[in-house]
Amino acid sequence: MTAVDFQLTDNSNNVRRGTLQFTKKNKTIQTPACLTYTLRGSVPHLVADNLKPLPIDLVQVSIEQFLEQKDSSSFKFPHGLHQYLHLEDLLLFCDLRDPLKLAPTAFNTDKYLSVESHGGVRQVTPALWAEAVKAYRPDLVAPMADAVTDLEAKNKRIIRSVNRSLRWLDENLKTAKELDIPVFAHVLGHTNAEERARSAKETASRDVEGFIVNMLGLDYDQIPSLLRASTDALPTKKPRLGYGLATPEKILEGVSNGIDLFDGTYAYKATEKGRAIIFKFGQDLTNDEKTQQAKTLNLWEPSFAHDFEPLDTTCGCHACKRPHNKAYIHHLLNAHEMLGPILLMSHNIYQLDQFMAAIRTSIENNQFEQDKDRFMKYFSHAIEVDGMKNHVDEVDNESLGVPLKKKRTIL
Ligand SMILES: [Zn+2]
Repeated sequence: MTAVDFQLTDNSNNVRRGTLQFTKKNKTIQTPACLTYTLRGSVPHLVADNLKPLPIDLVQVSIEQFLEQKDSSSFKFPHGLHQYLHLEDLLLFCDLRDPLKLAPTAFNTDKYLSVESHGGVRQVTPALWAEAVKAYRPDLVAPMADAVTDLEAKNKRIIRSVNRSLRWLDENLKTAKELDIPVFAHVLGHTNAEERARSAKETASRDVEGFIVNMLGLDYDQIPSLLRASTDALPTKKPRLGYGLATPEKILEGVSNGIDLFDGTYAYKATEKGRAIIFKFGQDLTNDEKTQQAKTLNLWEPSFAHDFEPLDTTCGCHACKRPHNKAYIHHLLNAHEMLGPILLMSHNIYQLDQFMAAIRTSIENNQFEQDKDRFMKYFSHAIEVDGMKNHVDEVDNESLGVPLKKKRTIL
């Protein structure tokens, strides 16, 4: 029996409703779904007690965040990454790089991939990758990939990135097979549709359990056609995770074009900006008379100082159930209290999961494309947390009082 088993309700290559089963752990993920983003293996702002009531199953861990020293202490821990991070009950997916910052940090060569750690740039070879995976023993792993995100990148560079990543995949696969860890392999090709199809076909000819379709660095209007260039060349029956499809609009575009899993970074990005998700989808979007509604609330806005309602009266998260009101969360942000981001992160993870659940129901009811149109008409898309090109970034760097970079530095 294979370690992961993926079943689709019908064999569609477009809008897909599936179940991804991790047979060793006896856990099932209903797709489309989002992974949960972590920094150094922790869900930002949350500790184990905050995680328990949240809908978290499959967690993304970026190996580069553990490489600050030459000999990472996490490599020496003998009982694997689940115990090291005290996440025994969750499924861990390890990729070398952080899906939020996949742009090359420095030169990559055929011998190594440059990654960004707190201790500076590190050069990761297939041998170091193997050492990490042997020590961590994740439930799912991604091979090394020479991803290109620069829109100006020439075809020659894109072709080299596809070839290099295939060579690394072949090397990494030997290790993964020895350890019996399922592999989701990167499908690259950036702005070149032919290379996307070649990368997809070549990758699919290897013994991998799923794919990571890389859409990072692309403009919103490029997404449908370039995504199709990849997914049309992939086998229907294996799951696909999308990188660079974090905003609700991009998630919907991903679902329309055959993506099953998403990186879940939106909940984190919104939280860092002091924002709470209020968008709804499908059956949950009951009022569709108004248009251009905001998708998130900016809790920094002074008007919330006198708003004693919870973030969302229908939400089942810890922040809304207690309930903590908006005025209190506004106060917590201004006072730079840890509880502010804790409440927002809990709410945003919960709401992102609700959004994905509503997408699944919508697909089951054969309503997805209609519901997607309704969503696009009802909400405003001019302002976006993710900063789509030509769009205003919803957040200023200082929104949580401390610039992101400083917050992440480990002294
Ligand atoms: Zn809530």
